[in-house]
Amino acid sequence: MFKQQEHTLLPFPTHSMARKKTVSCGAVAILVVLVTGGIVTLITLMFTRNTAPGLESTPVPSQETEHKPYLIGVGRADCTGPPAEIPLMGYANTKQTGAGIHTRLYSRAFIIDDGRKRVVFVTADVGMVSQRLRLEVLNALKAKYGNLYRQDNVVLSGTHTHSGLAGYFQYTLFMITSKGYIKESVQPLVNGIVKSIDIAHNNTKPGRIYRSRGELEGNSVNRSPHSYMNNPEEERNRYKWNTDKQVLVLKFTDLDGNGIGMLSWFAVHAVSMNYTNRMVSSDNMGYASYLMEQDKNPGELPGHGGFVAGFSSSNLGDVSPNTKGPHCVNTGLPCDYLNSSCPVGGTKMCQSSGPGEDMFESTRIIAHNIYQKAKELYVNAKEEVTGFLHSAHQWVDMTNVTIQINSTHTVSTCKPALGHSFAAGTTDGGGDLNFTQGSVEGDPFWDGIRDVIVGKPSNETQECHHPKPILFSTGEMNWPLPWHPKIIDVQIITIGSVAVVAVPGEITTMSGRRLRESVKQELQSEGAFRDVEVVIAGLSNVYTHYITTFEEYQVQRYEGASTIFGPHTLSAYLQKYRGLARAIAQAVMIWSCPPFQDNVSELPTGPQPPFFKKLFNLMTAAGVDRKPENSSFGDVVQQVYPVYRKGDVVSITFIAGNPRHSGDIRDKTFVTVEIYDNRTDTWKTVHTDASWETRFHWLKGSNRQSNSTVEWYIPPSAASGFYRIKHFGHFKQLKALRPVITPYEGTSDVFSVTGSFYSQRYYEAELRMQKKERMSYY
Ligand SMILES: [Zn+2]
Repeated sequence: MFKQQEHTLLPFPTHSMARKKTVSCGAVAILVVLVTGGIVTLITLMFTRNTAPGLESTPVPSQETEHKPYLIGVGRADCTGPPAEIPLMGYANTKQTGAGIHTRLYSRAFIIDDGRKRVVFVTADVGMVSQRLRLEVLNALKAKYGNLYRQDNVVLSGTHTHSGLAGYFQYTLFMITSKGYIKESVQPLVNGIVKSIDIAHNNTKPGRIYRSRGELEGNSVNRSPHSYMNNPEEERNRYKWNTDKQVLVLKFTDLDGNGIGMLSWFAVHAVSMNYTNRMVSSDNMGYASYLMEQDKNPGELPGHGGFVAGFSSSNLGDVSPNTKGPHCVNTGLPCDYLNSSCPVGGTKMCQSSGPGEDMFESTRIIAHNIYQKAKELYVNAKEEVTGFLHSAHQWVDMTNVTIQINSTHTVSTCKPALGHSFAAGTTDGGGDLNFTQGSVEGDPFWDGIRDVIVGKPSNETQECHHPKPILFSTGEMNWPLPWHPKIIDVQIITIGSVAVVAVPGEITTMSGRRLRESVKQELQSEGAFRDVEVVIAGLSNVYTHYITTFEEYQVQRYEGASTIFGPHTLSAYLQKYRGLARAIAQAVMIWSCPPFQDNVSELPTGPQPPFFKKLFNLMTAAGVDRKPENSSFGDVVQQVYPVYRKGDVVSITFIAGNPRHSGDIRDKTFVTVEIYDNRTDTWKTVHTDASWETRFHWLKGSNRQSNSTVEWYIPPSAASGFYRIKHFGHFKQLKALRPVITPYEGTSDVFSVTGSFYSQRYYEAELRMQKKERMSYY
């Protein structure tokens, strides 16, 4: 059994540590505690001295035995939506619509209960959690569980994959780039997240949590070093790197020490898959989860098995996984340092890549590194997390927060607005027009167009956002619905000595450090916490783009231009999160005094965010499917070869229907790779469309005809033997003028996989198989 560490959250009156209490109950209470503490000490001494062998005595509870285990539940559920025609969320590239599956998307839920309070942390393979998604999830939880899961004790965080589906937003700006609010995209996310919580809820059992922290170098670079350099020198000097390298791991075990799950945080953009990708993919963070889960659930297909590994986003605002850094793709030379553009081709030519040769290899390398580091920390995690749980949440009108800078001066946040450099995109992708980063002056051409189409920003907003040249004054644009959220969530949950700060957007490295420090200071200020580990959960609860420091904001690169509430956005958050942390710290202290009330619940809830009724949807319904004359859906257009070696790629193309006709595709698959088992004369599935080794492409042809191409990248670990690939789908046809949806499937010829073409065993097996095939066909 591990020894309880000194740094844990100080517990309550029933625990011996209540004597550490210093405030809130008044002098009488302090005296009582001191006296009680004294008596306890005396009794302890007496028992220690007087306990003789054979003499029955009440054992004095040690801290180890008195620490009640938590109830812990973990759950994972598929949240993949229809991978066709719907835009992918992240690069805001309208041409990047879904066309297949690289890896499936999952929601991973962790429920912790201290017998008094319960918290839920969800990390989902999604670009970001939107306000709409959160509200729909909370509504569904309320309908199912009443008041058990609420806005204050449930954190929803996105991994920031840029290859998940869009369409789950209620504000106009996001709806425009997403083709509106798309029900078929929202439903699997809501249902998948809720299902992951259901699974965690139903398997809660007593267990323990251990925390561990390490550093992972070489896996991330700062993509706006110029902005970072604008932070004060003495502040920068405190840090070795311009991105955070720490990986924080929480290890969950049952009471026998068997691992049941892991939750980790690392700050890096999930943009290893770039904007040329059209397949739904969980990118580097999702693949790290996949690797850890495959490791801990041996023999299971991806997405199956009890062990759940969450790799959650953090302060990744200016952090890129494209470690080769930005280069002009046309010349190979580095881009302009200040505004990330190229002499020929401008911003569009300046792109980051690496560390691999292509995006798949880059995803694999980054994911492997994160997974390896997390696994090492998981294996060595020895510091037990103990103490009660707390959560604090508020809705805040971020357009109007006043911040006291000093005794005489206040500043304020602004109505949301995006700067010119927002349209430049980043070196990770985006930005098709002639905008460049680092622009502090407007452009008369684009400003003119903007004024005509959406209107001129007010003077008040322009002044408030200075020096940001405003491209879209989204806070002043309300047609047909508001363009940006005004009411946002601030939230902290504490699990013993670990504080999870849920941030509603992409916070930069230095902003994240300041926020962690502020929260830590506040939590520890009253003596309620010691050696608390503060971690930032990024992309949580509602999306508000970026959060930079005031200094970074002045440079107006992409992140500054996308800090929508103005130059004092971070200061406002520091103030708000400090408030939450203080409430938690006070709750810890007050809770230890009669009548044991939780002060956190006295925090004002704040203004409720809106839930818009009339959302627009620009996606047309998927049309009927056609096929060539004298063929059927599922027929093979391009067949497999008879023999492959490990390391080869098998490719096969079928006549297909639109994947949108397959409805709810969660826990299903468009693809299986199957191996023949000659002992049982059956086919066994070795891969699905969730597998890293398979790629399912949907190719939309002309005249409503489409194909599905399945690729299998045969891994070196593949068993030699006979295989087949199957494809499953649905097609829509009109029958008597009514749409009818029909399932279909297609199967490849049997092919063999061998280590070498020249193996005698292979030829013998091949002959046996051919004989068997003949027997079964004739
Ligand atoms: Zn981002």
